[in-house]
Amino acid sequence: MPNISRSQLRSVVTDIVERTPIVDIHTHLYSPAFGDLLLWGADELLTYHYLVAEMMRRSPIGYDEFRAFSTREKANHIWEHLYRLSSPISEAARGVLTALQTVGIDVSRADPEEIRQQFKHWTVEEYVDLVFRKANIEFVVMTNDPFDSRERALWEQNIPVDSRFRAALRIDPLLTDLSRACSILSELGYAVSTRLDDVTCAQIRRFLRVWIDRMDPLYMAVSLPPTFCFPTDDPVRRMLDSCILPVALDRELPLALMIGVKRQVNPHLQLAGDSVGKAGTQAIENLCVAYPDNRFLVTMLSREDQHQLCVTARKFRNLMPFGCWWFLNVPSLIREITMIRLELLGFSFIPQHSDARILDQLLYKWAHSRKIAAEALVEKYTDLQRTGWSITEEAVTRDVRDLFRDNFLRFAGRL
Ligand SMILES: [Zn+2]
Repeated sequence: MPNISRSQLRSVVTDIVERTPIVDIHTHLYSPAFGDLLLWGADELLTYHYLVAEMMRRSPIGYDEFRAFSTREKANHIWEHLYRLSSPISEAARGVLTALQTVGIDVSRADPEEIRQQFKHWTVEEYVDLVFRKANIEFVVMTNDPFDSRERALWEQNIPVDSRFRAALRIDPLLTDLSRACSILSELGYAVSTRLDDVTCAQIRRFLRVWIDRMDPLYMAVSLPPTFCFPTDDPVRRMLDSCILPVALDRELPLALMIGVKRQVNPHLQLAGDSVGKAGTQAIENLCVAYPDNRFLVTMLSREDQHQLCVTARKFRNLMPFGCWWFLNVPSLIREITMIRLELLGFSFIPQHSDARILDQLLYKWAHSRKIAAEALVEKYTDLQRTGWSITEEAVTRDVRDLFRDNFLRFAGRL
């Protein structure tokens, strides 16, 4: 295959990045079979919790007053304060416009009511097809919580599987709220106690295996505070050592650790009330060295932890850094983090996940991230070309495929 000339590098790399299908390894989306757990459309898009937090800085409305609004009233209020009385320049506010534009909605003079009318053209199934096609996504990974009674009931009915929505087994209460985990497990007929004796550990392993069999997840996942440490006192150590990691190992599943979220810094904001804290990577180093046969997918929420996470990943091949999570999913930081990772890890990381909670967000999160990834790659390939190294379309296609798809599938044992 011929070398790409310097003058063509930008257009060829950009084109390959656009054409490469995405495996989106962490979202909060559901397949249409989950009914109204799948959020999509104008009102959901406009009432995303990122926008609620931004609106609250500009509107004098009381928390309770806003909370009492219908979803439609909330969307109108957010539109008024973030789009009409100000330019929608934040990443979350601009993202709505990118998403609408991508599905052909003219945002130049639109208001929420006109946007709602446009969405009446689609059934949910048609809209899922449209979004996956426009965003060029192969499949997304959901966040599936067996501790949530509503979701659990749907799985127990053996809802049909849509291959574009794959499962991830979310196990937060086991590590962050043992008494809640135990009370739910007891209700489900597992003989457990918060002392985590041998019987309880065997029951928790059985619970995990039942849900792995039911969901066929690509990994298990937990979101953790910045204060997470390992090794630590029981019960977290014992839960990892005797319950979660042995099951992850024998079912060949990575454990995804999402570290750095400070829950409910402002409880009035509900979902929008979580914040960020610096964590450091000591716990990750200790886990990676203590469990060399387990695999850890790790994303960290604070900007300050990103460099250290890359250095830690250089030391452990059972550690895969992924994504620019939540408050890091803004262009200036995606660019910075992607560059640090390319320079320290080559192509051995997963650059992004969408964290989409509303289906339509796939459209903007991936459009914006693809553009930044392409720019970063053009810069680094240009530096390579200057050394006399040949860059071919075949090589770029392979590298981009590793980033957006194959690194994850390989790490999850699915390639
Ligand atoms: Zn998430």
